[in-house]
Amino acid sequence: MTHRGMMYVNGEWKEGSGKTFKVASPVDGSILGEVHEAGRDEVKEACEAAYEASKKWRYSHHSERAKLLNRTTEILGGMVEEIAQHITQEQGKPIENARYEASLAVGAFSESAEDMARLESPVLQSMDPNKRVLTIWQPLGVVGIITPWNFPFGIPAHNVAPILAAGNTLVMKPASQTPLIAGYIFEALAKAGFPPGVANLVYGHGGVTGEELTGSELVDAIAFTGSTEIGRKIAESAGRTIKTMRLELGGNGPIVVLDDAHIASAAKDVAGSCYGNAGQVCTAGERIIVDEKIQKEFTAAVVQESKKVKLGDPFKEGVTYGPLIDEILAEKVDRHVADAKNKGATVEFGGGRAEGFPTKLYYKPTVIDGVTADMEINTEETFGPVIPIIPVAGDEEALSMAETSHYGLSAGVYTRDIARAIFFAEHLQAGTVEVNSPPTYWHPFYPTGGMRKSGLGREGGKFAITTMSQMKTIILDTR
Ligand code: NAP
Repeated sequence: MTHRGMMYVNGEWKEGSGKTFKVASPVDGSILGEVHEAGRDEVKEACEAAYEASKKWRYSHHSERAKLLNRTTEILGGMVEEIAQHITQEQGKPIENARYEASLAVGAFSESAEDMARLESPVLQSMDPNKRVLTIWQPLGVVGIITPWNFPFGIPAHNVAPILAAGNTLVMKPASQTPLIAGYIFEALAKAGFPPGVANLVYGHGGVTGEELTGSELVDAIAFTGSTEIGRKIAESAGRTIKTMRLELGGNGPIVVLDDAHIASAAKDVAGSCYGNAGQVCTAGERIIVDEKIQKEFTAAVVQESKKVKLGDPFKEGVTYGPLIDEILAEKVDRHVADAKNKGATVEFGGGRAEGFPTKLYYKPTVIDGVTADMEINTEETFGPVIPIIPVAGDEEALSMAETSHYGLSAGVYTRDIARAIFFAEHLQAGTVEVNSPPTYWHPFYPTGGMRKSGLGREGGKFAITTMSQMKTIILDTR
């Protein structure tokens, strides 16, 4: 990467407002680089560039866009290992997971081109014999993309690709903890030949750079992935300027383990789901609701699984997870664990920061039993490597316990009874429910998104294109 940390606006790499900030690795605390901040003026400039470019780009043929998107996949395809190494250094996830994130994300550009080519829109029956009624998908215009740090390459790529395929132009602001890795995407788009102004990248803090983007009158839509708290602010700002919004927000996913579940495999999946990326996954199991008849046996199985976890240097093969992203998050995990202990839960395993690592961000795999509805670990998203076990008496109580959080992104149920599986799949308030499978199982073309306070709209494959498009009705008179 040659333009590390510079903004990309109207086809040029720029230094921004003159202010910079440093990016530190959670792995070892080393400084990875400096980022040029966009102030309000630079964001305006980027939005103007995207607005001007949109006048022509929105009428480009999808096959023309497909050529550029396919070229982007080809360019990035030769860089998967380099990108993966960078993801691990900047975000801290194990290198094997980073390779998976990078390879799926690289494919997003050509897949979006294909999804666009196959997009259908209905032809409707006319009430008048002389008229014909058809519908077409059209782009929204300029889309502002704001992304989080936990999949710092994957989330930007899975946003940028369908948004461009749909014929929109864009201005993207990545998270301040992991801004550098997004530069790979924009270098590849530039090299592939996207016209100036079609895809713009700005860096900077949410409260200034992000806020300017969400409030801009030139921006027609916002695609935001991040916390529910910031999503609310974004919705207020974007609402004032009547923008389309796709909000992918926080999660606090319940996994319900019923009394007839296969305990060993449920425990294995729960550990995999709660410890993957150190628990920093929006769809991770955050609350494990277990029938009290199997609570003891299940907790013992989960502790066994937790003993197998390898916490450590994420560049080493076979490591389960590495550090948390920053001190702010690590303190939240500390706070949730302390609150559970103070209110009577028992730490069965782990329960604090691990010693002997280059930063204080390495958190022990943690199992807490006897969690109740009033504890923060139940009501809020923890986003750390913690398995809170919440005992309940029977299916009805399991379902009402699942409802005690206001989130609704993902959920899981473990049972060997098909009727109970279907009942929970239909009744759990979540955008995705997985049966006898960890709620982190995902592929980019599945429709994903949140119910309740976990978001608006769906992404994934053709759904990412239709959410970022608008349908037009065309009525033809044949006389
Ligand atoms: P965050 O704090 O909400 O930040 C997300 C993005 O919003 C960052 O780029 C941030 O910029 C920006 N931002 C902050 N304040 C803003 C404002 N006032 N206006 C506009 N933009 C603003 O979330 P995070 O800590 O990066 O990510 C973790 C969260 O994302 C978790 O809650 C997780 O569940 C959620 N998430 C959801 C999904 C999903 O698909 N539903 C996927 C991944 C993650 P700065 O970095 O500069 O503050």
